[in-house]
Amino acid sequence: MKNRHPGSVEKFQHRYAQLKQELRGLGFVCVGSLQTRYLECGKTGCRCHDSPANRHGPYHYWTRKVKGRTISVLLNPAALELYREWIQNNRALDRLVHQMRQLSARALTLQTGKRRP
Ligand SMILES: [Zn+2]
Repeated sequence: MKNRHPGSVEKFQHRYAQLKQELRGLGFVCVGSLQTRYLECGKTGCRCHDSPANRHGPYHYWTRKVKGRTISVLLNPAALELYREWIQNNRALDRLVHQMRQLSARALTLQTGKRRP
């Protein structure tokens, strides 16, 4: 197929190369998200039952879907920042892959002159 827009294809290739470069610099990734909860305990007479402001916490959880069910794991403070960073990396990975697919689709349209079904 004859390339009718060489300049535009180069632009896509350049942008694609930038995305790959970002991928190279990406650290470890972790699926899911973080949740912070304040909880009431089982002790009768504990002040945590008086008001939401008196609840125990914060407790930090890593939550994710496993086979359609949400699984929560309590994290210790030392692990929290690691999970936070890796979850952010995972979102960056999702964005990069999404952009690479979009860019590829546009390049394909440009190269073939046809919209993909
Ligand atoms: Zn309590």
